[in-house]
Amino acid sequence: MTNRLYYDDAYTLRFSASIVERTEHKSRPAVILDRSYFYPEGGAQPPDTGSLNSIRVIDVQTRDSDRAVLHILASSLNGADQVEGEIDASRRLDHMQHHSGQHILSRALDDVAKAATVSVHMSADSMTIDVNRADIPAAEWSAVEQLANRIVQEDRPVRCWFPTAEELATIQVRKMPDVIGKVRIVDIGGFDITACGGTHVARTGEIGLIKVIKTEKRGDSTRLEFRCGLRALADYSAKNEVIQRLVSDLTVGASELPAAIGRLQAENKQLRTDLKVAKDLLAEAEAQSLLATAEPHNGHRLIIRAFSADRTTDDARLLLQKLTAQADVIVLFGVAGERAQLLFGRSENVSLDVVPLLKSALAQLGSDRGGGRPNFAQGGGIPAILDQVLAALQATVTMI
Ligand SMILES: [Zn+2]
Repeated sequence: MTNRLYYDDAYTLRFSASIVERTEHKSRPAVILDRSYFYPEGGAQPPDTGSLNSIRVIDVQTRDSDRAVLHILASSLNGADQVEGEIDASRRLDHMQHHSGQHILSRALDDVAKAATVSVHMSADSMTIDVNRADIPAAEWSAVEQLANRIVQEDRPVRCWFPTAEELATIQVRKMPDVIGKVRIVDIGGFDITACGGTHVARTGEIGLIKVIKTEKRGDSTRLEFRCGLRALADYSAKNEVIQRLVSDLTVGASELPAAIGRLQAENKQLRTDLKVAKDLLAEAEAQSLLATAEPHNGHRLIIRAFSADRTTDDARLLLQKLTAQADVIVLFGVAGERAQLLFGRSENVSLDVVPLLKSALAQLGSDRGGGRPNFAQGGGIPAILDQVLAALQATVTMI
């Protein structure tokens, strides 16, 4: 079994060790060392990465059968059994800051909000805690953060050790896991005492900052996302950049942003309404002028128009609706472009099924995607220029 040196010292990141076994893990080369500072994935904490004799250690796992630490490698480690190990420092520090920060947050949630931690997730993308309470009010979240950060600022010492069975019986732990063998205790300066096998900071001040950045109600529980230390700083920087850009674009102070965006949304809504009214009036006027120049065709008023791509299909449909609201009208519209559309319609009093007409015109353009009802049909989606669209429309006139 590997001597797990990180239990007593989370700060040594370079070490020498001997290979005691060369093996494979999921068809990757792996080695077991007599001693290691590498943290294997477990207890919600991701594994360390680093190198052994400059071969990348891409994953570290505990072997189920004997709890040996498997150092999983990017390529085979040939040569002598003696190796120099090096752990990626920034990743390790990030895990230490978040793991100690999580213990503090879990205790603060217990104390302030009577919300017990049910699960923890830590990864490169997110750090979350699920607690067994929904509807935690904003004031309590704020009090949780205040308490957690007070513990950080007090720079309390953190102690990790394996107590004897007699000593363990006297310790009030927040959460006791179902572990076989010796239990490791992590005491965060008397504020939180819990059983844990992870890597922790030596003093709470090293966590820097604990910030809850998102809370999400999930049935009877709440998932909170948090950031500590340098990841909290990175999050602050990214958000500050967004705020600065908005402040500059909208020329208001940061605290006035919500009101400014509210005004823009209201203005946008009003403009949409005004635009709808204006488009309707425009379509009405255009319909009147088209009707005035419509060609008589077998007792109907036939209107054929091919539009360029700057006319939207929605606008063409609105115009068609205005036209076919009048009696005796048949409309054959096409909108040219990368995804050309044909729109055929007729008045209620005209006995004509426009679907076969549409299919015929679409076939001429090389499309079979379209259909509708006897009084309105639409289709297309293929590239076609204005002349092609107009030719396809005119070719169907003989069918009317
Ligand atoms: Zn822990």
